[in-house]
Amino acid sequence: MRLKDRVAIVTGSTRGIGEAIARAFAHEGARVVIVGRDQVRAARVAEDIANHGGRAVAITADVSRLEDAQHLVKQTLETWGKVDILVNNAGITRDNLLLRMTEAEWDEVLAVNLKGAFNCTKSVVRPMMKQRQGRIINITSVVGQMGNAGQANYAASKAGLIGFTRSVARELASRHITCNAIAPGYIETDMTATLEAGVREALQKQIPLNRLGCVDDVAGVAVFLASDAAAYITGQVINVDGGMVMA
Ligand code: NDP
Repeated sequence: MRLKDRVAIVTGSTRGIGEAIARAFAHEGARVVIVGRDQVRAARVAEDIANHGGRAVAITADVSRLEDAQHLVKQTLETWGKVDILVNNAGITRDNLLLRMTEAEWDEVLAVNLKGAFNCTKSVVRPMMKQRQGRIINITSVVGQMGNAGQANYAASKAGLIGFTRSVARELASRHITCNAIAPGYIETDMTATLEAGVREALQKQIPLNRLGCVDDVAGVAVFLASDAAAYITGQVINVDGGMVMA
């Protein structure tokens, strides 16, 4: 029970990587807040965690809206009295080559992936500062490190998250709040389900461990970063990518 009685907000936990992180946190004894725009899915995940002996509540929020993020934190404090861990995981893609990319595609991706992390972190910082402890984990991507044709918006949002992570880490270190990022490579989720077979094969060739990742590969690292074992780690980006990026 590495996270016994901690309270964790995991954004974008109605499916995919976020859901796996929420389930892993609950398994380690944390009380988790399931967050997404889809109320039915959020409730279903929270209920399923409870059915397996965990503790979870569902709160509907669109992280791109500051008032939703503030409401999310307020509700969490009303329910459980504290927030120990925030995982900024909610993310979207709107892929297009730059020549064809619309302003709306650029704005939507930046609003969810980057501003969403700002909104949730800003909302959670005051209670964490009062507690004089906290863990913030941002889910970035190898694409934010390498770039990717057709993903200028997504890559910019994920690279932005890395700068955000390091700045927040420096600002909050004196309050014993750590801020780190996880950079997954290609992970099997709804987001990557649409990859064509040829593209998938070509991708796999670039991965030294020769497979796409699974959601639990990422969840395990999130548990570690949220646990006491990671108390002396802040401002870092940990790649979970089968060796795609070796810096
Ligand atoms: P999915 O598309 O499977 O899930 C995305 C999650 O984000 C859903 O729970 C969705 O819930 C939520 N979400 C989307 N928009 C919002 C919003 N505006 N407000 C609140 N929640 C939102 O994605 P993955 O699990 O694949 O990805 C999770 C994170 O990991 C993302 O940040 C992604 O960029 C990153 N990542 C993924 C990789 C991969 O290969 N899959 C690789 C590298 C990084 P709902 O629809 O209910 O709002």
